[in-house]
Amino acid sequence: MEKILIVDDSIVQSTQLRNILQDEYDITIAQTAEDGLQLACSQDFSLILLDVVMPGMDGFTLLKKLQEEIVTRRVPVILITSLSDALNEQRGLILGAVDYIAKPFNTLIVKARVSTHIRLYRYRRQFEQQSMTDQLTGIPNRRQYEQSSLTKWNEAVRLGVSLSICIFDIDHFKMYNDTFGHPAGDKVIAAVAQTAAKNLQRNTDFLARYGGEEFVALLMGGTAEEAFGHIKKIRQAVEDLQIHHDPSVAEWVTVSVGGVTVLPTAENSYDHYLKIADAMLYDAKRYGRNNVVWTNEKMNQLREK
Ligand code: GH3
Ligand code: MG
Ligand code: MG
Repeated sequence: MEKILIVDDSIVQSTQLRNILQDEYDITIAQTAEDGLQLACSQDFSLILLDVVMPGMDGFTLLKKLQEEIVTRRVPVILITSLSDALNEQRGLILGAVDYIAKPFNTLIVKARVSTHIRLYRYRRQFEQQSMTDQLTGIPNRRQYEQSSLTKWNEAVRLGVSLSICIFDIDHFKMYNDTFGHPAGDKVIAAVAQTAAKNLQRNTDFLARYGGEEFVALLMGGTAEEAFGHIKKIRQAVEDLQIHHDPSVAEWVTVSVGGVTVLPTAENSYDHYLKIADAMLYDAKRYGRNNVVWTNEKMNQLREK
């Protein structure tokens, strides 16, 4: 059941709306704009019905705040008002409300408008989800990565915790394709992604397909040694899949990994450290592939070979 939040100071009014909608939706009621904001930020609603006139913070102010919060800015808001004059309607729409419902409520109109906006929101979420996911592996794609890397960096700055940036690259993969064919190569990419994903299950971990046969992982908290240790296990897990490679280059399919652990600050940049992770990957290739090379900010290298 899709969740709807009703923010209205009048219990009579919110009860009327609840009665109209409760058979088809999961309804939550907030009696003040402050409570509404708090609920909207902490739960996933598919629609917010918002009264314009309330004591304290009014509907327009709450609407503006909802638009400013990353977690709520996409949730459609329908304004409820008896002030169905053009000026209020205009103001609400400019602020980003998707629609209006006038009091007294007409059951059919309320149901129809609510159902339309819930449906549109569902399509939009589906579309966004698809456009952020890599088709082949089912993990986040480059586009999602571009967003999440910035979010993670800023979060680490705010919390004062370390961030580990790590790049995986499948070894001699051109040769794999040449020997076994592109479709077989695709299966290998998916298997490597799954193996990495299975080993990165903390809710602060992030893994994306960066491109071709390369993946980026972001880990929050912990030391360079800890990240290095964990990523070595993933490198080993890929080798343990025992996917036959072309015997002229290797027995099994393997990955080389480069990474860096850094304490992000507002003064240094994500891109700078991504380049360092890439340089570590280059070293891992140079040291013979199927190994992890890591560094910290002081450029003290940790390596397997
Ligand atoms: P190295 O060990 O130095 O990484 O060598 P490599 O052959 O893996 O590196 P290179 O960058 O030369 O080749 C990458 C290959 O990955 C070439 C390309 O055809 C293949 N590739 C990229 N994307 C895909 C894909 O989606 N599917 C398949 N099957 N192959 C892909
Ligand atoms: Mg590559
Ligand atoms: Mg490669």
